Amino acid sequence: MKLVKIKGIVVGEQVYSESSKILKIFTKEYGIISVMSKGCRKIKSIFHEASNTLIYANFDISYKEEGISNLIAVDIIKIFKNIVMDCKDLEKKSYSFLLINLTVQVVNQKNVKDIEISNIYDIFLACINKINEGFSPRIIVDIAKLKYLEYLGVKPSIDCCSNCGSNSNIITISSLSFGYICSNCYKNEKLASKDTIKMIRMLYYVDIDRIKKLEIDENIIEEIDEFLNDYYEEHTGIYTIINNKKNIFSKISEIIC
Ligand SMILES: [Zn+2]
Repeated sequence: MKLVKIKGIVVGEQVYSESSKILKIFTKEYGIISVMSKGCRKIKSIFHEASNTLIYANFDISYKEEGISNLIAVDIIKIFKNIVMDCKDLEKKSYSFLLINLTVQVVNQKNVKDIEISNIYDIFLACINKINEGFSPRIIVDIAKLKYLEYLGVKPSIDCCSNCGSNSNIITISSLSFGYICSNCYKNEKLASKDTIKMIRMLYYVDIDRIKKLEIDENIIEEIDEFLNDYYEEHTGIYTIINNKKNIFSKISEIIC
């Protein structure tokens, strides 16, 4: 066991005994670690406020490589108030929890390299910040889904035709064909709009921290969602679709509020 000071964001919590919780903390250096927060369920505990999902903080922990580490001290950096405290805004919460669920699944895959975990951490934190700032959570989660595909080993071809490598006359994007398709290689794939084809590439390469405006036509978002949902279903083992929004939103509000 060694003492470490580490920055991270709580991505899960599990009640342990009457007074404690085991936190799942996502860190850049160690990935997702389990940390015992002793006594945190008592209101007077110094760990009480920090032992909740989506708390971003500096944690002093007694670190165990295998098993559960222990929380020694914590200094909160940020509470994403607009996500966790607004009980009326279920959309922000739902998409944030969908993003957490997706991120945990991506990080927990076998053979994920340290550098990849570090990149996933940066993407996740940037996305949570943007959702908290009020940008469309649906589009922000789409950006994360697109960027995570590289770490799932199935990056789509969005610079050129996935079949012949040509970068001219791209006419659609297909999940089955792993990305762009040019007019020469086109068979009978569903045609996506020109704007959707361009937008998917833009969202893939966008620097999330630098997003100042994010206004996208509803029809384009629908097409991007459809592409991503199909792509995840066909090429990853990860389930990401909100099938029944109302149902999930009300479930999440019960848990959080
Ligand atoms: Zn082609």
